[in-house]
Amino acid sequence: MELASYADRAVSLVNTADPYRHRDTLTTCEQAKELLAPEGRCRVTNADVAELRAIRDRLREVFDAAESGRVPRAVQVLNSLMKQYPIRPVVTDHDGASWHLHLAEGAPTIAAVYGAKAAMGLAVQATELGFDRLGVCQAAPCREVFIDTSTNRSRRYHSDRCATRANVAAYRARRKEQARVAGEAEAAANAANAPGTATAAGAKVMAGAGSAAPGR
Ligand SMILES: [Zn+2]
Ligand SMILES: [Zn+2]
Repeated sequence: MELASYADRAVSLVNTADPYRHRDTLTTCEQAKELLAPEGRCRVTNADVAELRAIRDRLREVFDAAESGRVPRAVQVLNSLMKQYPIRPVVTDHDGASWHLHLAEGAPTIAAVYGAKAAMGLAVQATELGFDRLGVCQAAPCREVFIDTSTNRSRRYHSDRCATRANVAAYRARRKEQARVAGEAEAAANAANAPGTATAAGAKVMAGAGSAAPGR
């Protein structure tokens, strides 16, 4: 397993919360178990849920800081996470299993194991690809995070669904603008063709523009 692939754990954890739409899918032990499935069979307590949520907030800050160009802040939070949740690799064959690697041996909780792998994976990706590859979805109000692994650094949305939604919204906005411009042109043409009403129509447009101006 590539070390960078552990960054998926950071993305999965951060995306269990959507504070901007008041959605949170990490509030119960059952939900935590689902998230922790890659760690194998494990006992999950309420304390693990609380710890994972705390790690989640800090990982979110890493993405938000990177997204807004505050890389030193992203690095600071990431380093503090790695200090608290260190990688401690051990090769083991416990319980009759074949030799395999434990990355966070001796971590006090399963949440800590998850946190150690998530933070390390994110650090590997951020340093190999660049911090500008840590993204926050641009399809408002979605704020889910992603790691842009595209070759041309063009990814803006966390999912295909959000990309489609954003494209449809942009298309509608363009259509609306086209209709508005066409309507204005038509009104102007009508006014030009009927000199007697030109003043009234002109006054109407002026009034409309005036009331739409901000701060008045
Ligand atoms: Zn094991
Ligand atoms: Zn999204």
